[in-house]
Amino acid sequence: MIGAGMIGVAAASFLQREGHEVVLIEPGNPGEGTSFGNAGCLNGSSVVPMSMPGTIKNVPQWLIDPMGPLVIRWAYLPALAPWLIRFIRAGTPGKVRAQAKALRSILGPSLATLAPLLKDAGAEDLVKKHGHLFVYRSQESWRKESLAWQLRRENGVEWDEFEADELRQLDPNLSRDYVKGVLVRENGHTVNPHRLVNSLAEAFVRNGGRIERTRAIAFELDGERLKGVRTESGTIAVEGAAVTAGIWSKTLAAGLGDRMPLETERGYHLMIRDPEVVPRIPVADAEGKFVATPMELGIRIAGTVELAGLKAPPNWERARVLLRHVRRMYPALQEAYADERVSTWMGHRPSLPDSLPAIGRSRRSPDVVYAFGHGHVGMAGAPMTGKLVAELLSGKPPSVDLAPFSPQRFG
Ligand SMILES: Cc1cc2nc3c(=O)[nH]c(=O)nc-3n(C[C@H](O)[C@H](O)[C@H](O)COP(=O)(O)OP(=O)(O)OC[C@H]3O[C@@H](n4cnc5c(N)ncnc54)[C@H](O)[C@@H]3O)c2cc1C
Repeated sequence: MIGAGMIGVAAASFLQREGHEVVLIEPGNPGEGTSFGNAGCLNGSSVVPMSMPGTIKNVPQWLIDPMGPLVIRWAYLPALAPWLIRFIRAGTPGKVRAQAKALRSILGPSLATLAPLLKDAGAEDLVKKHGHLFVYRSQESWRKESLAWQLRRENGVEWDEFEADELRQLDPNLSRDYVKGVLVRENGHTVNPHRLVNSLAEAFVRNGGRIERTRAIAFELDGERLKGVRTESGTIAVEGAAVTAGIWSKTLAAGLGDRMPLETERGYHLMIRDPEVVPRIPVADAEGKFVATPMELGIRIAGTVELAGLKAPPNWERARVLLRHVRRMYPALQEAYADERVSTWMGHRPSLPDSLPAIGRSRRSPDVVYAFGHGHVGMAGAPMTGKLVAELLSGKPPSVDLAPFSPQRFG
């Protein structure tokens, strides 16, 4: 397994359960990539692709708003253009229906699939299943999302709707500006994504798994059969491998002839320790496109899409904007906090333009499986993806139809 984020650790754990001897290759510590600082939502309902019919119409308005959810660094535009074109083309009514169905197949069973791993790791306290609340500032913005909710309904997601007064009862601390709330009860969240990945990695090691602290560079093939994974510290002989290196998977896949349109959608979080108020469950602001999640260390506000590539330094103003957003959601929060109470983070969502991950075999070798490109839903998508990787590497029929996730779908 190449890469010990949530995807790699879940896949390594399931493969181990199939009776294989498994090595996790990871240059850093497990869970310190993008899996570290996300919003922690484990939402089976996250079936709505990022590129939807009409998304493009909102872009100019988002870009000029300093508190808007999208930023593009213009110097990066030439490199970004091919991905952007594919992204826009992916947003037709027919395509988004197919994408939503495919997403539901891996996200719907997320919590149930994760359960045995949590139990084995003794980490059940890290995952809560209390639902997820979406809130709207106007009836108009609720109506604008009707297609998104239609896609959820078509895929079996159920919810309860709350009008302004009922919303107050549900969460008395919420700003009175919100006029509509939608509660999806099937969803869950982790109160510490980093500790979740670590606990699973520790259980993997306790069960006989090995973590090699090095970086994978290339694959050694004999014809189409895999002989080993070349790393910075020498070659590790293996019979099968999975590329689970998040955004960093692109170069490894290119080495096997798969040119993947994998792009980073950079996102930020801001954490407040000991906040004045904490939501009981994750609350998503539909217009601001951010989530406030109750974590064991405080409240985490996560969001923003910044298209600026892998190398540009973080723009911490994007994280500070999240404090302004969350104060509009929870007015009891302060305008400013002492530095020791606030921390910020930036991470790379590994995104393919059609909002679906790549799960399947490489072009050059059936022994190398890909599992990357989970974009906004890698935490929720990890359990089923891990199970699918284990099935593929064990020669078992996959539990879901893998055609929509084919790594070769981009030509
Ligand atoms: C702000 C934000 C909020 C988010 N909120 C949510 C959410 O609420 N719910 C959700 O489901 N998803 C969410 N996501 C998305 C989610 O975090 C990602 O999809 C997921 O973490 C990707 O996991 P991964 O294992 O593929 O990648 P990573 O966690 O990045 O792991 C990849 C690992 O590969 C290692 N690696 C890199 N190169 C090599 C190499 N050559 N050899 C070996 N190892 C290598 C890295 O060191 C790293 O540890 C969010 C993302 C962001 C940025």
